[in-house]
Amino acid sequence: MSRLDAWPFAALPAFPAERYSALGERIGRILGAEEHDVVLVPGEAIVALEAAAREAGASRRRFLNVATSVYGRLFGDWLADAGGEVTTVSPAVAGQPIAIDEVRAALSGGSFDAISFVHGEAATGIVNPIDDILAEARGLGLVAIVDAVASVGAEPLVLGEDGPDIVVVGPQKGLRGPAGVSAVAINTRGWALLARPPRRATLSSLSLLDIRRDWLDSDRAVIPGTPAPHELWALDAALDAIGHEGIDGVVARHRLAARAARSGARALGIATWTGDDERSSGLTTGVLLPQDVDRTRVIALAQALFGVTLAVGPEGVDPRLVRIRHTAAEAGFEPVLAVVAALGGALVAAGADVDVAAGAAAVVSVYAEARHDDAHDD
Ligand SMILES: *Cc1c(COP(=O)(O)O)cnc(C)c1O
Repeated sequence: MSRLDAWPFAALPAFPAERYSALGERIGRILGAEEHDVVLVPGEAIVALEAAAREAGASRRRFLNVATSVYGRLFGDWLADAGGEVTTVSPAVAGQPIAIDEVRAALSGGSFDAISFVHGEAATGIVNPIDDILAEARGLGLVAIVDAVASVGAEPLVLGEDGPDIVVVGPQKGLRGPAGVSAVAINTRGWALLARPPRRATLSSLSLLDIRRDWLDSDRAVIPGTPAPHELWALDAALDAIGHEGIDGVVARHRLAARAARSGARALGIATWTGDDERSSGLTTGVLLPQDVDRTRVIALAQALFGVTLAVGPEGVDPRLVRIRHTAAEAGFEPVLAVVAALGGALVAAGADVDVAAGAAAVVSVYAEARHDDAHDD
């Protein structure tokens, strides 16, 4: 047998067009979409974000772009590069969630047609106040554009009538799916913004309007282009798994993991990056290491001693920030217990005074209480 024959993925069957239609509908159901269309983008989520930003920016309208991370900054750059008039608002402390008052102040300082923001930030473990921002946007009649890549599956997100108008999602984080295909949910108001003249005359693989014309508005017999079938089969399988657990179950599991991680970190004796549980991500938890320990050393020790991966926070954010993951398969009791214990163990090895046993006990108690409550609900 040649090496090529032995390569199992070479034999993957083409992805059927009927199933391709169903993928969009299933993602729509996960998002609770009623009036939104779901456009699949054959690329990593960052490609779908750029597509949305460039097509929105080409409307040359006025955007308030909320930047709480590199993704938000990039989004604003793409909007502006495509012709949008962009005003940026960032939190007073880099890496913290935006405060609704900061958004209100920025909105009252100008006149806008649309607002864009990231829902959940996995890089810092924060969640922006989506409901409050959407309420402001609705009050002013703004189109709302949301990067929900790091919140879908981890935070409650329902695109009813009052939901955001353009929502970018990817399956590779909370949905435990592949990284090579993503989706954008768009309602009438969102489409109207994207379609606003002046529009370019040429076809573009980055145009959501072109994807809509070639797929959603077609007879859907032939999938446009050649999206990698591996990604589509993997997404299909990820959606099956979510179907079994239920999207509410997936979100609840992430929220529980986050609660246990936060409680564990505090019991160790270290601070969480955001003190507000409501503003903390279901995918990751940011913690602030004590002043006198070396962050790089703690991360190296966690890896060397326990085989547990911790990560630094983004550049430009407090250098004591460390991020622990409880994403997808890691959103469960064992991985959360392990990561909190390893963080504690690494800190002790680095000379810090933390209470590993108390950290572990806190994780145990959050899970025990949650199960106890479940048992009593039955
Ligand atoms: C991960 C992520 C993305 C997508 O980035 P990829 O490079 O495609 O993985 C977009 N926005 C946010 C907020 C993210 O966390």
